[in-house]
Amino acid sequence: MANKAKSEFLANMSHEIRTPMNGIMGMTELTLGTELTGEQREYMNTVLDCANSLLSLLNDILDLSKIEAGRTELEAIDFDIVACLESTADVIAHRATGKGLELICTVTPDVPRVLCGDPTRLRQVLVNLGGNAVKFTEEGEVVIVVDVEKQVDRVVTLLISIRDTGIGIPRDRHDSIFENFTQADGATTRLYGGSGLGLAITQQIVQLMGGDIWLESEPGQGTTFHVRVSMPIAEADRMGSEPTSLAVSLENTSLSGIRILVVDDNATNRRILEVTLRAWGCKVSLAAGGKEAFELLLAVDDGGSPYEVMLLDVQMPEVDGLELERQVRASFLQNKPKVVFLSSLGGRGEVEALASSSYEACLTKPVKQTVLWDTLVGVLNGEAESPQPGAMVEDSAKAATDPASPATSDPVSSAVHFVPRVLLVDDNAVNRSLAVKLLQKQHCDVSTAENGQLALDQLDQKPFDLVLMDMQMPVMDGYEATRHIRANAKWKDLPIVAMTANAMQGDREKCLEAGMDDYITKPISTKDLRRVVDQWASEAFQQESLNAESLSGSSSVDGAPHPDTVRPVDFERVVDNFGGDRNLFVEVFETFLGTLPDLVGELQEASLASDGTRLKAAAHSLKGAASSVCAEPIRQLAEQLEQMGGQDDAGGVDTVLTKLHQCIEELRNFEGIHDQVRS
Ligand code: ADP
Repeated sequence: MANKAKSEFLANMSHEIRTPMNGIMGMTELTLGTELTGEQREYMNTVLDCANSLLSLLNDILDLSKIEAGRTELEAIDFDIVACLESTADVIAHRATGKGLELICTVTPDVPRVLCGDPTRLRQVLVNLGGNAVKFTEEGEVVIVVDVEKQVDRVVTLLISIRDTGIGIPRDRHDSIFENFTQADGATTRLYGGSGLGLAITQQIVQLMGGDIWLESEPGQGTTFHVRVSMPIAEADRMGSEPTSLAVSLENTSLSGIRILVVDDNATNRRILEVTLRAWGCKVSLAAGGKEAFELLLAVDDGGSPYEVMLLDVQMPEVDGLELERQVRASFLQNKPKVVFLSSLGGRGEVEALASSSYEACLTKPVKQTVLWDTLVGVLNGEAESPQPGAMVEDSAKAATDPASPATSDPVSSAVHFVPRVLLVDDNAVNRSLAVKLLQKQHCDVSTAENGQLALDQLDQKPFDLVLMDMQMPVMDGYEATRHIRANAKWKDLPIVAMTANAMQGDREKCLEAGMDDYITKPISTKDLRRVVDQWASEAFQQESLNAESLSGSSSVDGAPHPDTVRPVDFERVVDNFGGDRNLFVEVFETFLGTLPDLVGELQEASLASDGTRLKAAAHSLKGAASSVCAEPIRQLAEQLEQMGGQDDAGGVDTVLTKLHQCIEELRNFEGIHDQVRS
């Protein structure tokens, strides 16, 4: 009973906190979309950062209380362990790269690839532990390895280790760090931030999975967390084929016998590439640096069997990857291998250098095994690569020889052509004015009402395409208002969407039972609003314009089918790219948003300095980043800028930069999906 009471208390707290948070975050985002001085922008960005961390703290507390109250049930679905680890890497890679850390993630070849369990929770564990490893490490590496401890019948026991070379944890704190709100050293709180809830949640999840978690660590010696969990191997018939390990599932004669030279200064990385490539049947040689690599190439050049592919780390001491590639290209070697670069995204100078180098492909670290496989097969078959999330695969020759592509469609002007009439019902003035602004940005004609009764009055006076309804209101609440609306035949098909701050399970059902069509949670995000307006108002509108057309033969508004709007982010496509994982998308997307100010600042400086090379490099970075989150309008503009930089064509840069700012503003409003997805 106490647990239940606590859980209810937290649900209420969450509701009460979310409501004002809605105003804070929304108004801040709107302010950021206006013209501000640099100082004001910095202040507002800080407000937004703080609001975001408050919200994630709230989500953590809610999460923990749900687990403790026994309200969390684990899923048992078939999932791909390699994809699970790779999506973890996607989330933490950016932070690791930003700190100059080597991030290495691998699933050993004998792990059965398709298991039955809860991939979302397992990823949460890995992201928490991996995120901590990055957070508490200033130099060196973070290595996540998924291995098999044992297999009994069709149940495999995984042994997962997360090792870092960071500050370490004193022995007498090894137990207490798993407690709520506890950190190893009070002083580190100030230095690293955090709430001390991550490990508590992690431990609870692992225990819920029937597993255990422990650590080895000494101050200054780095930390290794170990997680042991058992899971059934997926049933063959459910997956449609016999599940296999990565090595077997990728087995295909096309890579077997291929000679590959791996050049990387990091021993762990070399070892992992060696194991992976050998499992695929490749013949692998290793070199720790440029000089050693050149000697190996030389040794096989006359008479030996030459290397077909060289996997080349970009950042190495002494002779770096780019330099080695240039030396090889300029050399007298008769057999020159195809070059696949391994690089960390984010180094602007590095990308610039890459653009002037010739290579087959460039993969972003940590390298995904599936992407590595596809890339190698593609490179060996001489196929053109297409960019994919998490892997920057570019063809520099193409960029140089392509004629300037025809002017890309203007993403800003392709707006929705009809004006949905929306009735917004909410008793809270801040929320009302925020939602009105967000809806107006989406070209809606908005009317407001402060409670259910006033909403009914408004409906009587004029037609609407959509009602957005708060649930808890004085005089007449949302449930009752909905029942009244539904009771009237002329409104029986009017779309009604609930907006509530109740983020708990069951609330959605309650709204739908009352006769509503859909449900969104507060804080309200632009993305949610756009979705419901698109989905519900346009449907109502199309129906109506069809009726109007059949009556009069013409329509005052453009009644064409829903035009293809270019959205700030193609949410469906990108979520699909991330294996349907919305949370993952949100995290990657946030990282992308975080990098935008720097990238745009660099573009602006390059434009001011009329430096075409710099413009091209910065635009190239932006293009890659935008395409990984399917932010098509931004990607297109970045591409335009890249071409302008390449042709030293200063005319028009400013216009494109202005458009870019507009697109980014639209994108910022997209940010609120965060809360909706988490809750
Ligand atoms: P938070 O990171 O939010 O403070 P956690 O529960 O995730 O909370 O971690 C609790 C504490 O354990 C951290 O504050 C830190 O002192 C310590 N810790 C966790 N992981 C590591 C690590 N990889 N290296 C060093 N210290 C760590």
